[in-house]
Amino acid sequence: MTKFEIRGLRADVLISEDERQEILKGVDLTINSGETHAIMGPNGSGKSTLAYAIAGHPRYEITEGEVLLDGENVLDMEVDERARAGVFLAMQYPVEVPGVSMSNFLRSSVTSVRGEAPKLRQFSKELQGAMKNLSIDAAFAARGVNEGFSGGEKKRHEILQLELLKPKVAVLDETDSGLDVDALKIVSEGINRAQADSDLGVMLITHYTRILNYVKPDFVHVFSEGRIAESGGPELADVLESEGYERFAKAGA
Ligand code: ADP
Ligand code: MG
Ligand code: MG
Repeated sequence: MTKFEIRGLRADVLISEDERQEILKGVDLTINSGETHAIMGPNGSGKSTLAYAIAGHPRYEITEGEVLLDGENVLDMEVDERARAGVFLAMQYPVEVPGVSMSNFLRSSVTSVRGEAPKLRQFSKELQGAMKNLSIDAAFAARGVNEGFSGGEKKRHEILQLELLKPKVAVLDETDSGLDVDALKIVSEGINRAQADSDLGVMLITHYTRILNYVKPDFVHVFSEGRIAESGGPELADVLESEGYERFAKAGA
């Protein structure tokens, strides 16, 4: 049983050397293993900032609060330590790593997280199986990481990493954006598989309710103006679907 806790988290974005702006204004959230929490909210409400703050992106500075994985402060860890501890982050805009093949990249990530290099043949088999599950063409293994990938291909690769790394908690930022229905189903099945395999806790950040038809949330949180404005069960997503975010935008104004 894993507990991932965000407590009183406040963070600034560093805009320039002498300019900063507070974006996260006190976020509290607990995710237990096996649970799926959807974080929904209007554009600009700070959802990606929350993901970046957990990731330790240098552009964002935590001013208050903590992020704990089974009681250990994730924010005190180096960025690669966070992954080794079992925190997986899929960013809204995955970075390209030209010149490094997908298979090499994935094998070194797996090596770093597992603490030892998987046997090459065994890893190739594992990789091929995972790629097949996600309908990723075998030829992609030799391509540069995200280099020239379409939006949808990048998102599938995020889920490929997720399936290979087997983290304890995954923060998925707009993994559904830019996907057609078929790709959305494939990506959702990957998330569900990862969860069934290892009792993964999931923070699913999304602007749209569409993905929630495939990845069923246990809890839905409305993010507005840098904090969680309301929490509920899956039915809250239906309210948002019919009413939009206006009510929450006004509440924070
Ligand atoms: P969301 O993901 O909910 O759309 P973001 O976390 O991306 O929201 O952005 C929250 C707010 O922080 C926005 O007003 C955005 O303009 C601002 N912001 C985020 N990153 C930066 C940055 N690097 N420089 C300036 N402003 C930023
Ligand atoms: Mg679930
Ligand atoms: Mg965002």
